[in-house]
Amino acid sequence: MLIIKKVIIYLFKSMSKLFSICPVCDAQVVLAEGVEESEIISCSDCRCRLVVEKIEKNTAALTKAPEVEEDWGE
Ligand SMILES: [Zn+2]
Repeated sequence: MLIIKKVIIYLFKSMSKLFSICPVCDAQVVLAEGVEESEIISCSDCRCRLVVEKIEKNTAALTKAPEVEEDWGE
């Protein structure tokens, strides 16, 4: 019975995960728990910086983050 309970908890936890599709390479992106709108994440496939535009139930809309000019440090 304990095992069944654990499986149910696992299923519930996995359902609460956010999935999205990378707008750059179309790979499935799994968002970390507690991620918020306008947060910047990176695609594990193409390493692109992505902005979390909108979060809905189990999905999130992602857009490519604007390129950051690395001119600081000079
Ligand atoms: Zn990607």
